Amino acid sequence: MSAALWQRELREQFPIVTAHPESAYLDSAATSQKPRAVLEAVQTYLTTSNANAGRGTYPWANLTTELVETTRERVKEFLGDPEPERSVVHFTSGTTEGLRTVARDWLVPHLTDGDEILVPYADHRANLDPWLEAQRLLAARGVHVHLRALPYQTVSGDYDHRALGDLVGPRTRFVAATHVHHVYGGDMNVHRIRAAVGPDVPICLDAAQSVGHLPVALDDPALDVDFVVFSGHKAMALPGTGAVWARNARGPAFRPAGWQGTPNTVGIVSLRAALDWLDAAGPDRIAGWTAGLTTRLTDRLRHLDAYEILGCPTSLAADSALPAAQRRHGIVTFRHCDIPSDDLGFILYSHGFMVRGDSLCQAGVGAKDGSVRVSLHVYNTVEEIDRLLTVLTSLA
Ligand code: PLP
Repeated sequence: MSAALWQRELREQFPIVTAHPESAYLDSAATSQKPRAVLEAVQTYLTTSNANAGRGTYPWANLTTELVETTRERVKEFLGDPEPERSVVHFTSGTTEGLRTVARDWLVPHLTDGDEILVPYADHRANLDPWLEAQRLLAARGVHVHLRALPYQTVSGDYDHRALGDLVGPRTRFVAATHVHHVYGGDMNVHRIRAAVGPDVPICLDAAQSVGHLPVALDDPALDVDFVVFSGHKAMALPGTGAVWARNARGPAFRPAGWQGTPNTVGIVSLRAALDWLDAAGPDRIAGWTAGLTTRLTDRLRHLDAYEILGCPTSLAADSALPAAQRRHGIVTFRHCDIPSDDLGFILYSHGFMVRGDSLCQAGVGAKDGSVRVSLHVYNTVEEIDRLLTVLTSLA
C-alpha cells in the first residue's frame, strides 16, 4: 500500500480530525489527537468492568488490577526493554510528574554532599525544575550538590558533546537529558552523552517528544539510558497519562511510592490501547511520514526571508540538507521578522491552523523569545502543509 493511502486510512481513524476538515491541528507536541480505538477501549472499559485497582476481590476489581499490571509489561514491550524482569514501570500524569518522581524518589535519597549532576538548561522546563527542587531540598538538609549545565551548540540546539566531556568528574552521579527537543525537533544524540559520561553514570531521558513519534528501542545500545519518562497523552492516550520506565541496572533501584489512592485506571486503559495502535501503525512508518512533511515545510520556509527557522544554521535550515541523524522529528519552530509570535499564531488560527505561539515552556535562553511551533503527527497531510505554506508566503 502506498504511503499516502496508508496515511489516509490512519487519518480516518481520528474522529476529531475528520470532523473538522477546514482546520489543521498542528500542535501535537503539546498533546496528540486520539484514534477511535483508544476512545472505544475507554468506553468499553467504563461500561463493562470499571472498578478500582489493587483492592476488592470481585471480578471487575480483579480485571482492573490486572489491566494496570499488564499495562506495565506492555509499556516495557513497547519500549523494546531487553530485561523486563529487572525494570520498573510507574504510571504518572505526564512527563512533568514523571521527572519529578525520579528526582524525589530516586535522586534525592541517593545524593551525598559534594555530588554533581548534569542538567539541561535550554530544554523543557519540566526537565529543569525537578533537579533544582532536588538541590533545594537537599540543601535544606545540609547536603550540598552541584548542578552543572549541559553545554549546547548554540546554532544547532544539540548538546555540545565535546565540551560535555570536560564537565564529567569523579563526583558526577546523574545526567538528565532530552531525547527529541520540543522546540528544535532534533534528536539530542544521547549515545554521545553516554560516550562522554562513561558506562556507570545513570542517564534520565525526557522522551516526551519521541515516544509515539518515532521508534524508541531500549534494546538498541545507542539508547543506553536508565530512565525513560514520557507522556501518554502525547502518544495517543488520554490526558493525564504518562509513565516512568527505570532500567534498574546502575545505582540503587527505583522504588517509587506505591499506590496511594486510586490510580488513573481509565488513563492506563487508554495508554494500553494507544500503544497497541501505535505498534500496529508502526513507529518507523509514522516517523517517516512526519519527516516527509517536515522536509516539505522547511524546504520552502527557508527560502522566505521573513522567517527564521530556529535550531539550525540558516544555510542548513532545510531538513533535506541535513544528515539523517540531525533532521527534525515533526517539529519546526520559526519566527517572523516583523510579526510577533502571538499575532502570527492568531493569524494562522484565522486560517484554520492550530499552532503554538509563545515561549514554548523552554527553560533558559529561549524563554523570552516568542516563536511559532508547528508540530506534526501521522494524521497531518501534505495538503495541510501546502495550505500553511500558502498563508506563510502571503505574510512574507
Ligand atoms: N518535556 C518535553 C520535552 C515536553 O515537550 C513536554 C510537553 O510539552 C513536557 C516535558 C511536559 O509534558 P507533560 O505536560 O505531559 O507533563
